Amino acid sequence: MSTLHIGIAGAGLAGRTLAWRLLRAGCRVSLFDARRRDDLATASMTAAAMLSPLAELAVSDEAVFAMGQRSMQLWPEWISEIEEQAGEVFFRRKGTLVVAHAPDQSSLEHFTRLLQHKLPEGCREQVRTLDAAGVAQCEPALAGRFGNGLFLDGEGQLANDQWMAALAAEIDRRGGQWLEGQAVNRVEAGRIVCAGQTYAMDVAVDARGVGSKAQWPAGNPLRGVRGEVLTVECAGVTLQRPVRLMHPRYQLYVAPRPGNRFVVGATELESEDTGPVTLRSTLELGSALHSLHPAFGEARVLRLAAALRPALDDHRPTVEQRDGVWHINGLYRHGYLCTPALVDGLVHQLLGSTATVKEERVT
Ligand SMILES: Cc1cc2nc3c(=O)[nH]c(=O)nc-3n(C[C@H](O)[C@H](O)[C@H](O)COP(=O)(O)OP(=O)(O)OC[C@H]3O[C@@H](n4cnc5c(N)ncnc54)[C@H](O)[C@@H]3O)c2cc1C
Repeated sequence: MSTLHIGIAGAGLAGRTLAWRLLRAGCRVSLFDARRRDDLATASMTAAAMLSPLAELAVSDEAVFAMGQRSMQLWPEWISEIEEQAGEVFFRRKGTLVVAHAPDQSSLEHFTRLLQHKLPEGCREQVRTLDAAGVAQCEPALAGRFGNGLFLDGEGQLANDQWMAALAAEIDRRGGQWLEGQAVNRVEAGRIVCAGQTYAMDVAVDARGVGSKAQWPAGNPLRGVRGEVLTVECAGVTLQRPVRLMHPRYQLYVAPRPGNRFVVGATELESEDTGPVTLRSTLELGSALHSLHPAFGEARVLRLAAALRPALDDHRPTVEQRDGVWHINGLYRHGYLCTPALVDGLVHQLLGSTATVKEERVT
């Protein structure tokens, strides 16, 4: 039987991770993207890349939680595997600290109750309340600043730029074909039309995020949800893990990165505006950071970025086949959290279903 050829439209987190897993399974892969591989304007290159199955349960459901739990098993394996070939990818699993300033205590209390209510039996011990001493022990930099907090055990984070670069290196090393900077016009069963040219393959997968909006049925529309983040460098504060700050109007987080860097995010706006970050969002993100620790006042602003999260109405990431085309989309605010589980499932489906198609063609 000849090697299975899979075409993937979209080289964001979903498309790139899928390409890597298929190449290592022995498939031939062609990857198509309208942008260059290091273009920072996509959701995948903008994300804070926190891996927060517990914290995100407050705004999601048990399906996302289950995908997140499964992915938390796969991430360490996948990262150590890629690091052997493509260099270091920052990945930590030291939990998340959740805090609120004194006037916002009710937001923290509500968040705690919500988690306790939604968490499945057996996972509740992963959520622990902390007093002031517990907060100080967890994050010494925040000693004396918060009277209580919540610790979410087992949550993690990674550096999305390093993950995306490592995938690109691995796809090249394994001989993946990558057409960069060329927009895909259509994805059809066994065909991708890109820059006016038709490419044939055994199976076509659409992983274009919001770029494939027109191919989603009216009954289950795909939309973009704008998110903005601020990246700073600050030598005056050290955090071990992401810190979430509860607020009555918005929830913000500060995710530490190597090199004294911090990603502060994220706004969530029902808008498909891809323009620069607004002054209002800059003030909100900056004020939240400064209120966490005044030493952040001297932080250097490295980047202000906005991108669209691809979202379905139920906010669940999905893998589905329609008219002979596979779709992986709707990753919304849980792309990094859920991608290993989604991609792993899709690889099994593709290898299973396409093996049958190929056998039929050969006989
Ligand atoms: C501000 C922000 C913070 C986030 N924080 C987190 C977080 O902490 N944890 C977490 O789990 N998730 C987070 N996310 C969500 C996560 O980033 C997304 O769910 C994920 O990156 C989506 O990946 P994707 O590959 O589906 O889409 P995208 O990243 O949008 O990639 C789609 C790709 O398709 C390409 N494309 C589009 N149209 C075409 C076309 N016509 N032809 C060819 N190529 C095309 C694009 O160029 C792009 O490369 C965050 C997102 C944002 C915006």
